[in-house]
Amino acid sequence: MTVDAVKNIEDLAAFVAESPVSYLAARTVARRLQAAGFTELVETEAWDPQIATGRHFVVRDGAIIAWAGGAKAQKASGYRVLGAHTDSPSLKVKPSSSITTKGWHQIAVENYGGALLNSFLDRELCVAGRLTVLEGGELKDRLVRTGPIARIPQLAPHLDHKRNELALDKQFNMYPVWGVDPAENDVLGYMAKYVIDGEPVDPESIVGYDLLFADSQPPRRFGADQELFASGRLDNLSSVHAGLTALERYVADNADEHATETVMLAAFDHEELGSESRSGAAGPFLEDILVRLSAARGESTEEYRRSVAASFCLSADAGHLVHPNYQGHHDPTVQPLPGGGPLLKINANQRYATDSVGAGVFAAACAKAGVPYQEFVSNNNMPCGSTIGP
Ligand code: ZN
Repeated sequence: MTVDAVKNIEDLAAFVAESPVSYLAARTVARRLQAAGFTELVETEAWDPQIATGRHFVVRDGAIIAWAGGAKAQKASGYRVLGAHTDSPSLKVKPSSSITTKGWHQIAVENYGGALLNSFLDRELCVAGRLTVLEGGELKDRLVRTGPIARIPQLAPHLDHKRNELALDKQFNMYPVWGVDPAENDVLGYMAKYVIDGEPVDPESIVGYDLLFADSQPPRRFGADQELFASGRLDNLSSVHAGLTALERYVADNADEHATETVMLAAFDHEELGSESRSGAAGPFLEDILVRLSAARGESTEEYRRSVAASFCLSADAGHLVHPNYQGHHDPTVQPLPGGGPLLKINANQRYATDSVGAGVFAAACAKAGVPYQEFVSNNNMPCGSTIGP
């Protein structure tokens, strides 16, 4: 591996480790962009017209949209958007979550997205997310994160004669254990101590919460020549990180000072649920930002529509190489391999955003960057995933 590739992987590892859940991922991106000269805008405040040509970002819950406005942009110039998602399949803390079962203290959870349940077994899990507190008559969001506090133990082999036919029941087999009874902790009282953006909060002030479990194992390189990389949440923090570093390099080169287009990173939440939320890609977040940028530029409705028509969005997400132990699950002829470059994902039913024109834009961009790429299409008998693109 080249020195640059190793540096990039190490940077990605640090980024993933700082981003156990979407709310923290959005804040990790925000922190790095602030260090690169971007300033935060708040949606409830009035925005100065200058923001159309500046470097700014907006965080909405677990999503973030950032842009570097081209200094030479005219009315009706377009946007170049890289879209990705901050969330990953997980287990989410339920209401009345502190329970005891036969001497064990457990946390009740429900499934978030289509988690591969066995990947949560027999590993130490942390809890992270946000608490909403009512302080002095005002509601505030506070970010929280614990260390490794829980584990979902697999049934011992001598208690399971079907041990290699693992079938997990979402309700009865997936509650993490985090202590023994009599329990001294309840979940919210415990989380109140683990605020990462300020002082601990009074547990009595907590009126809402979005708390999720994540693997606490740090990402690492491995393999005979250390050319492989293992990490949780690469779907889709790998794309968020790629978009972030691209934007950092773009402004480090002051490319926005000569640009007519506005370059944008849109990292949405809730892709694993189908994107239909106020911070998801099917919700109004991106449009809300584009409309306000358009107003800041003084565009008419027609100029705004022309600007959108002149734009392009690359939907970036994780994809599948051929699995060496399950080759039959892949298309028999389109077989992306390790080291062959990024995938252009194609689906006749538009589960991915690629069409003929999009494929052409991607091919031209890869050629310009000197990067080879491969195509991906599903085996017709396999379910096809989706992404934010459609
Ligand atoms: Zn994804």
